[in-house]
Amino acid sequence: MARIGVLALQGDVSEHVLAMQKAFTGEVVAVRKRGQIETCQALVLPGGESTTICRELTRFGLNEELKAADAAGKPILATCAGLVLAAKEIEGDSKVQPLGLMDTTISRNAFGPQKESFEVDLKVAGLDKPYRAVFIRAPAIARVGKEVEVLARVGRAIVAARQKNILALAFHPELTDDRRIHQMFLKMLEE
Ligand code: GLN
Repeated sequence: MARIGVLALQGDVSEHVLAMQKAFTGEVVAVRKRGQIETCQALVLPGGESTTICRELTRFGLNEELKAADAAGKPILATCAGLVLAAKEIEGDSKVQPLGLMDTTISRNAFGPQKESFEVDLKVAGLDKPYRAVFIRAPAIARVGKEVEVLARVGRAIVAARQKNILALAFHPELTDDRRIHQMFLKMLEE
């Protein structure tokens, strides 16, 4: 049976596991130990606090395993703090050392403290109707490389993008019942 691993170091791990279980008929497991990532066919990097997840990745020794999963072309759903970690660069003086899986530059907390959380009906490339997207202290993608396809924007800020096997979102598809983003991701398992 196919298995999807949700990185379980910090953040909204259980929400991601539950949401993925509703969309996926295979197995969904929380991963935090070395050796687990290579047993998964796809991965989720959840939202949370990217500085903490970055520190824990090093402590648990998982950086190289994640890079290897990406190099093997396994689909990776990177949401919010996960989108920060998947990036190549972070704007400004950041405590986060990103994994460099995706050719992007990230602006952390891009929507400012006055707009810490908000919802918006988002036009997402590939979806016929708008998607109600929940943003929580959200980052935005400030720069994309040539390989990156932009899927959605809020104003000028890029909030969803894809580079080959990576689907990166600044919002939280695990917090709403609309499973279309999950279905989009699961299609990547068949490619
Ligand atoms: N702003 C957070 C960070 O940079 C991400 C917020 C989230 O994942 N909801 O870690």
